[in-house]
Amino acid sequence: MKNETPKALLIPRARLLDPSTGRDEEGALFVDAQGRIAPVPAKLPAASRLTVLDRPGLVVTPGLCDVHVHFRDPGATEAEDFVSGSAAAANGGFTRVATMPNTLPPTDTPALVRRARTAQTAVAIFPTACATVGRAGKTCAPIEALEEAGAVAFSDDGAMVADPEVMRVVMTRARKVGRPVMDHAVRPDLQQNGIVRACPAAETFGWPIFPPEAEVEAVRGDIALCRATGCALHLQHLSCAESVALVREARAEGLPVTGEATPHHLALAAEDIPGNDGNWRMNPPLGTRADVEALRQGVLDGTLTIFATDHAPHAPATKAKGFLQAPFGIIGAETAVGVTWDVMVRQCGMAPLAWAAAWVTAPNTLLGLPAPTLEPGAPAELAILAPNDEWTVDVRLLASKSQNTPWAGRTLRGRAVATYRRGRLRAPGLTL
Ligand SMILES: [Zn+2]
Repeated sequence: MKNETPKALLIPRARLLDPSTGRDEEGALFVDAQGRIAPVPAKLPAASRLTVLDRPGLVVTPGLCDVHVHFRDPGATEAEDFVSGSAAAANGGFTRVATMPNTLPPTDTPALVRRARTAQTAVAIFPTACATVGRAGKTCAPIEALEEAGAVAFSDDGAMVADPEVMRVVMTRARKVGRPVMDHAVRPDLQQNGIVRACPAAETFGWPIFPPEAEVEAVRGDIALCRATGCALHLQHLSCAESVALVREARAEGLPVTGEATPHHLALAAEDIPGNDGNWRMNPPLGTRADVEALRQGVLDGTLTIFATDHAPHAPATKAKGFLQAPFGIIGAETAVGVTWDVMVRQCGMAPLAWAAAWVTAPNTLLGLPAPTLEPGAPAELAILAPNDEWTVDVRLLASKSQNTPWAGRTLRGRAVATYRRGRLRAPGLTL
């Protein structure tokens, strides 16, 4: 790393969104050479000590937080590792991520949690740890020791904890340490070999169907255990209208349940699958158009409070095998801002401040972290966004080691242009 003299940063005009304080206004933002947000000084530092980021149409928020990423480290670092995954996240406007524990070996030991937590990368990594030993679903993981090592939540993501008696123990112990359980709510007995929801492509190619009940019944069971144990429950990547309805009821009842909406489930439906392309295969699969509408409504009415990418890299060769053979999952860090701003703000009329809350305050609250803010005196941790920029997704230019995205070659509107964290501006696409 170069030893640069720290510079101040001035963004003379931007829409400033700070969901912690409710601030939404046009203005200037100044970060002093110590990396703190400060009022714009009457006399600016000399040009050699100041970076000015002046472009029309900028939006500045506190750094985004993605509570659901797979960095494949250790175990599949040809697809992604802490450094490449973090670079992809930072390119996407994120300054914090929560990594999932379905690594090889699974992140079910304090040593592996510490390894993730201390990785020196472009974003801060907050690791989750396995809910069960080896993610095998049989025995509760050493929750207390994992928490002590820095695990922010527990999940067997990639699979649910299918045995309700085991899940009850996991949730009881997680509650005692004050941490949420995140569940990949898909019942394996109902999913069986299903990979896609009923749609024209599934019919054409004869792909096995993944019924909505596989998710809905899992959500129902998880909520019952939340009620029984009092443990905070976070339902990952919801995809079905009925799941949204169950989360809405649970929250109205006052249960500590949160639900997550991914950019792809908000933007795409099963009927959009263009053909035998493994980059459209994910778990849970894309829903019907009615499911997509219900997810959007759930975000708008505050049922689903958290956006997360489920960034799931896979090496190109594995995804090139076609839909039936490809592994589940798509990358999402670098396209998340464009997709969610376009779908939710531009098309559905979501308030930009609420959009920022779903990427900043709600995710940090889930992880038990104070959210970054734009208040003077705070250490600057920023996402600098250009929601109106049109760009074509060229997978060769992504920072991720993997290229498995359904948006490859497509034009998106909106993206992150820079992040600021720990005294450093990171603006890979800009000449400043
Ligand atoms: Zn999952």
